Amino acid sequence: MKYHTIKEKLCCPFDKGDLELQIITLQEETNEVLEGILSCPRCQRIYPIVHGIPIMVPDEFREDRFERPLLDQWKQKQQKQQQLIP
Ligand SMILES: [Zn+2]
Repeated sequence: MKYHTIKEKLCCPFDKGDLELQIITLQEETNEVLEGILSCPRCQRIYPIVHGIPIMVPDEFREDRFERPLLDQWKQKQQKQQQLIP
């Protein structure tokens, strides 16, 4: 999904709050976010973007095994960024 589409069109399905986007993989030619994390500051829910598709399903249909690898990747990336800061 394209970056500006995500920023303009998507909001939290539970409380309609604005979502924050963390990009993990961006395809620069098309400005397409392939992997990322959307988070809602209001309800603290996290929605992963997998293969360009935001996973925004009700809690009862969410499967941890699909989301876990991406969240781990995201955490590793954050840790790396922190290491770069002296
Ligand atoms: Zn929310």
